[in-house]
Amino acid sequence: MAQVKHVLAFGGAEFAKIGIPGDSGTHIWGVSGLVKRPGLYEIEAGKATFGELLYDLCGGPLDGRTIKAIIPGGSSTKILKVGERFKGKLANGTEFDWALEDIPLDSNSIAACGTGLGTGGTIVIDDSVEMIQALSNLNAFYAHETCGQCTPCREGSLWLSRVSKRITTGGGLETDVPLLLDIANQVAGRTICAHGEAVAWPVQSAVPKFKDEYLESIRKRQKGEEVPTLKLI
Ligand code: SF4
Repeated sequence: MAQVKHVLAFGGAEFAKIGIPGDSGTHIWGVSGLVKRPGLYEIEAGKATFGELLYDLCGGPLDGRTIKAIIPGGSSTKILKVGERFKGKLANGTEFDWALEDIPLDSNSIAACGTGLGTGGTIVIDDSVEMIQALSNLNAFYAHETCGQCTPCREGSLWLSRVSKRITTGGGLETDVPLLLDIANQVAGRTICAHGEAVAWPVQSAVPKFKDEYLESIRKRQKGEEVPTLKLI
């Protein structure tokens, strides 16, 4: 909506010269979470990378921390883990092999990495955050937001919230990790609006990527070991 005025002022053909073929104009990135300079950054589509957004514009991680993962386009888009490689072929045939920091900030490149540009509301997670607490926070949000009309979304969001909360409060079992995935798999694609995918995608993307950390979080609580406290800023 912010671009409509400029499309009308420039004319469509002229406006389309901004950005790259297939994704013209700019994107406004709303970066929140654990970076030095969170905020709104307007960037010409495809003309910068996640590395430039996170480390140059946003100033990188807080002192003494490292960025562990980002949720690129709002909490319902699939999580990206620092250190993973993204390989594939773009719609124009170009093959790519990127680290997270190399991913260009355009909708097609981000989609090709298995996630979405969404609202551009990038959430940055660093190594101080226990991933199960972050996931539990998201699950609680989506369980609160379901309207309840579709059974998979109504029940699935609540089950996901309860199971992840059970883990964070010390009652988790190792079988809860595949259980989370199983529940999410029964929600996605089975509802009448996109909230079903919003419920499922954080779990479907985070559980395979952070399975070992989730299991470690369960074991730590079973042994009564100290766990980090999730600090929201
Ligand atoms: S998928 Fe949409 S319509 Fe169905 S219960 Fe969830 S929020 Fe309601």
